[in-house]
Amino acid sequence: MKAAVVPGKGQGLKVQEVPDPKPGKGEVLIKVTRAALCYRDLLQLQGYYPRMKYPVVLGHEVVGVIQEVGEGVNFSPGERVISLLYAPDGTCKYCRMGEEAYCRSRQGYSEELDGFFAEYAVVKAQSLVKVSSGASDEGAVMVPCVTGMVYRGLRRANLREGETVLVTGASGGVGIHALQVARAMGARVIGVTSSEEKAEAVKRYADRVIVGTKFSEEAKREEINVVVDTVGTPTFEESLRSLWLGGRVVQIGNVDPSQLTQLRLGYMILKDLVLIGHASSTKKDAEGALRLTAEGKITPVVAGTVTLEDIERGYELLKDKRKIGKVLVKP
Ligand SMILES: [Zn+2]
Ligand SMILES: [Zn+2]
Repeated sequence: MKAAVVPGKGQGLKVQEVPDPKPGKGEVLIKVTRAALCYRDLLQLQGYYPRMKYPVVLGHEVVGVIQEVGEGVNFSPGERVISLLYAPDGTCKYCRMGEEAYCRSRQGYSEELDGFFAEYAVVKAQSLVKVSSGASDEGAVMVPCVTGMVYRGLRRANLREGETVLVTGASGGVGIHALQVARAMGARVIGVTSSEEKAEAVKRYADRVIVGTKFSEEAKREEINVVVDTVGTPTFEESLRSLWLGGRVVQIGNVDPSQLTQLRLGYMILKDLVLIGHASSTKKDAEGALRLTAEGKITPVVAGTVTLEDIERGYELLKDKRKIGKVLVKP
């Protein structure tokens, strides 16, 4: 089969033929219907992910249809599924509590395990979440790393109905969906974006849009309870400044890990702020986001769909600051 493989650290991405994978005990083989590109891929290609095995099939976001099941698996061929970003063991105390994101022996797809930029992929049954017929493939593929992840972040922030959520990077793949998830959970939503052109698109999903990098003064015209920061060091300080007392920052993205950020502890202390670092979703969160997607409360926003052969063009689109939404792969 064809796959996009990282041969070694810092060696880029190569689309090549690889042997067809076979499911072992506790695993299934899926035919990949859609995968999704993510900023994380670019960080992985730069070597920021120390647990990566080489060679590794890149890609950690997927929806597909089960073709074959290994021994001891409670799924059947023909079922449509998504995968968590990692494989939990299913047995430790965190897994038993339904907090498998904290599983000590979890392994990441596109890290210790092969990922999903391929025609077929082997997935551990412990990672699988069934997709109901109401959710489209485009909506489902965005659950593990985008909508389910944001859903979990807002749950961890104890978002209450009627609170106001501000989203930075609001036209991006995460941001444009974060607005929708927060709104579906009962919040008023404000999008921050960098250009008037993108503000037009963001308006469709937000109650208010702020354009520019210095957004806190304008944001503070109302009480901001939660910031979902999808950008990182360029926006972090403005995110903190935007918050009303008791506010929470859900820090989801960081476009440039080489940059440090200065944290004024006075802001944290005097404003009763909570900083939540946040990265993934559990099955429970994935199911929650899938339900909102199936109910039509989250509409997937797709910037473009590329084939495996065209994956480099996909990354060009991912890096294009004018694009709105998420870039998908259809193998
Ligand atoms: Zn991702
Ligand atoms: Zn576990």
